[in-house]
Amino acid sequence: PMPTIHGDISFEQVYFEYEKGRAALKGIDLEVSAGQSIALVGHTGSGKSTIINLIGRFYDITGGRITIDGQDIRDVTLSSLRSQIGIVLQDTFIFSGTIRDNIRFGRLNASDLDVEEAARAVDAHDFIMKLPDGYETEVEERGSALSMGQRQLLSFARALLADPRILILDEATASIDTETELKIQEALKVLLQGRTSFIVAHRLSTIRHADQIVVLDHGEIKEMGTHQEL
Ligand code: ATP
Ligand code: MG
Repeated sequence: PMPTIHGDISFEQVYFEYEKGRAALKGIDLEVSAGQSIALVGHTGSGKSTIINLIGRFYDITGGRITIDGQDIRDVTLSSLRSQIGIVLQDTFIFSGTIRDNIRFGRLNASDLDVEEAARAVDAHDFIMKLPDGYETEVEERGSALSMGQRQLLSFARALLADPRILILDEATASIDTETELKIQEALKVLLQGRTSFIVAHRLSTIRHADQIVVLDHGEIKEMGTHQEL
């Protein structure tokens, strides 16, 4: 198994194709130091989701290598690799159960207090306490009774509780009100703290806060740098 990792990630001449002869990534070189956040931007089909899928080894690359702390990710078991990675997808996954269960999500050793601490850290506690039964409120699958912003905050609390070294985030594109937007930005800062993170970024504020911005174009890196540099 993979011991507790530091979180340096590198892509070295990574090539990938979903279908034979149609390259989705063409020679990606990327060095990310532990704790850094990378914003991936680029047109639809440029390869953003593909990059984040490859970190969790949801597909096998066709050339080059991806390493974590210098170790090729093909040399570790999938379960140990994925135990180090937290994934927050665009369409936040809510299952039917209580709010508390949704935050805890399989972390059976997390106490009620741990759950609440995570919720407080991302500023979800107040809205949860306003629900009919607080943390014991039952939500429906897909969380239809919750707003988009609330679902996002719940997914952040869940990720924070899981405490992965590497965080992958496909930012929601849906428009949310300014107040919630600010809350999410603050929560995101807390969540990214001390983790290597890859964010498919849609919001300018997220892009601005990233340590590095990678601009993809047709499966290649077109530009890379800080917000100031680009
Ligand atoms: P978007 O902004 O629309 O999410 P993206 O930058 O995430 O786009 P990718 O999903 O990484 O783009 O797609 C990169 C390329 O790979 C595109 O040409 C896309 O059509 C192709 N592709 C993506 N997923 C698959 C798949 N499951 N099977 C075949 N081709 C795929
Ligand atoms: Mg995508």
